[in-house]
Amino acid sequence: MIAVLPILDGERCQGCGDCVAGCPTGAVALVEGRAAIVHPDDCNYCADCETLCPRQAISCPFEIVLGD
Ligand code: SF4
Ligand code: SF4
Repeated sequence: MIAVLPILDGERCQGCGDCVAGCPTGAVALVEGRAAIVHPDDCNYCADCETLCPRQAISCPFEIVLGD
């Protein structure tokens, strides 16, 4: 499991669902019209949601460095 999760800006999110449609693991879903990480254990921090979001409302600001 990745210990960090995408950061969501609820003010910017318009609930378009692009991140939900593009998330390869189903970790993000719309809750009351806003994106939310509903399955944090499934998030692999791929940053696809960050790339897809037209509002810069979801971001993966940390670099994942894999150890040996
Ligand atoms: S970082 Fe990847 S796995 Fe995690 S919520 Fe975003 S698209 Fe889904
Ligand atoms: S893609 Fe961005 S604006 Fe659309 S639901 Fe996801 S976080 Fe919200």
